[in-house]
Amino acid sequence: MQNYQVDENGFYGEFGGAYIPEILYATVEELRRSYRGILESADFQETYHRLLRDYVGRPSPLYLAKRMSERYGCQLYLKREDLNHTGAHKINNTVGQILLAQRMGKTRITCETGAGQHGVATATVCALMGLRCEVFMGATDVERQHTNVERMRMLGATVHPVRTGNMTLSDACSEAIRDWCCHPSDTFYIVGSTMGPHPYPDLVARMQSVISAEIKEQLQEQVGRSYPDYLVACIGGGSNAAGTIYHYLDDERVSIVLAEAGGHGWQTNHTAATLHRGTPGILHGAKMLVMQDDDGQIEEAFTISAGLDYPGVGPMHCNMAQKGRTRVLSINDDEAIRAGYELTRLEGIIPAIESAHAIAALGKVDFKQDDVVVLTVSGRGDKDVETYLKNKQMAGEYGDF
Ligand SMILES: *Cc1c(COP(=O)(O)O)cnc(C)c1O
Repeated sequence: MQNYQVDENGFYGEFGGAYIPEILYATVEELRRSYRGILESADFQETYHRLLRDYVGRPSPLYLAKRMSERYGCQLYLKREDLNHTGAHKINNTVGQILLAQRMGKTRITCETGAGQHGVATATVCALMGLRCEVFMGATDVERQHTNVERMRMLGATVHPVRTGNMTLSDACSEAIRDWCCHPSDTFYIVGSTMGPHPYPDLVARMQSVISAEIKEQLQEQVGRSYPDYLVACIGGGSNAAGTIYHYLDDERVSIVLAEAGGHGWQTNHTAATLHRGTPGILHGAKMLVMQDDDGQIEEAFTISAGLDYPGVGPMHCNMAQKGRTRVLSINDDEAIRAGYELTRLEGIIPAIESAHAIAALGKVDFKQDDVVVLTVSGRGDKDVETYLKNKQMAGEYGDF
């Protein structure tokens, strides 16, 4: 049987590892040696699960979406990560990592952010714990995600606009790593997705695995069996997808469908469909599929969705896609916008545009009437209302208002 978990050297098949500058070696090694022990300790588990319940609002509901089920000819259940505190799944991870940072004696937090959701989730837990927070964010994103920047500042974080490269997420990651290199002993880098050097992809997947742990229990209760026929999630770096599938990786009864951001189409130069387009390369500390030119220059990612706007994808997902365990679909901007409107009009749920990519995947799979499909709504669409309205011409029959 295939094993899709990380091996002891930090690899998922040929992907992963820890490609880091010498100055970070001791810090990353300390994390690698201690994270499993801390995560498995009774003290950590008790505090983590209490905060997930009382602060984040977990368990998030598993909701049978009747009108959408009818539309797609299946039994569609939505895992409502959009209802979490701060509006997305990101908070599951930041709550866990800040507890880890505290237990490792770190006093200063650094992070990267794209759309600002991870920056807000990190600034939130820093306020909660009284720790200093530095957020690196591309200057382009600072402009287009202004509300999230104001939220982070209100929460007490320092937001550093990054003006190198394309001034988006990938550049923010590079700058956060640079900051970490300058303060390796007192700073904990809270990585926002299943990315970065080992052990981060595994650490983040474990923090998000609460999603599939709950799905198992909720399906048992609502459907009478603990597994679905399909799991569907959107994928940027891969954290909400990893959390959604974590407890089903080796369960071949469960088909996994992932939706990446096609932008204008994965064959065009305006895309973020890394699993379709990428080739093996090293980015931000790990080997993964990267969109790059023949000289290894990283290509700019393009998508309407700031949270999926990254030219790489986490090593766990590179391996699973390569081995055929996951089916990866490329969803274009217009398909995502239309799907976002559809969920809004049929169920009264405005999803994040990232999550709308997963909704759009429903129309590309042939379901049977009694198939149980669980789709993770990774976040809420409050931050995207302006973009939805600006692009309502893409919404087909729903755009006529
Ligand atoms: C950040 C984000 C994503 C993409 O990140 P993953 O690590 O791939 O989950 C998806 N949806 C929302 C709402 C986000 O904020």
